[in-house]
Amino acid sequence: MAEETIFSKIIRKEIPADVVYQDDLVTAFRDINPRAPSHILIIPNKLIATVNDMEADDELTMGRMFTVAKKLAKEEGIDQDGYRLLVNCNAHGGQEVYHVHMHLVGGRPLGPMLIN
Ligand code: 5GP
Repeated sequence: MAEETIFSKIIRKEIPADVVYQDDLVTAFRDINPRAPSHILIIPNKLIATVNDMEADDELTMGRMFTVAKKLAKEEGIDQDGYRLLVNCNAHGGQEVYHVHMHLVGGRPLGPMLIN
């Protein structure tokens, strides 16, 4: 069983966060250190540490993360100009919080996908 992170506390509303969406499967909240005018994290309510830990039973949840991303992009007014969805995995991916999360970033041109 994976160790809980601060994101579990955000899901349970035990610590403050700017939650913009929550349903039975996923929670979305603004990143505390936004890298773009819109930077929202979309996470499964179930603790899944990394993409490597996802299983077939999680496919509905992962699909929900995309449909929620689409809905929030529209609400943020960035759907037409465009945005980026990012999921980092483990050290080389730059993952800092070990609770799967999709970054929704946009609101300005984001440049190339990778810096180097
Ligand atoms: P990672 O590098 O794991 O893909 O991204 C983790 C993200 O979580 C970072 O962008 C970081 O700013 C954000 N983050 C870390 N701790 C908190 C927190 O307590 N609250 C919020 N809202 N975001 C957090």
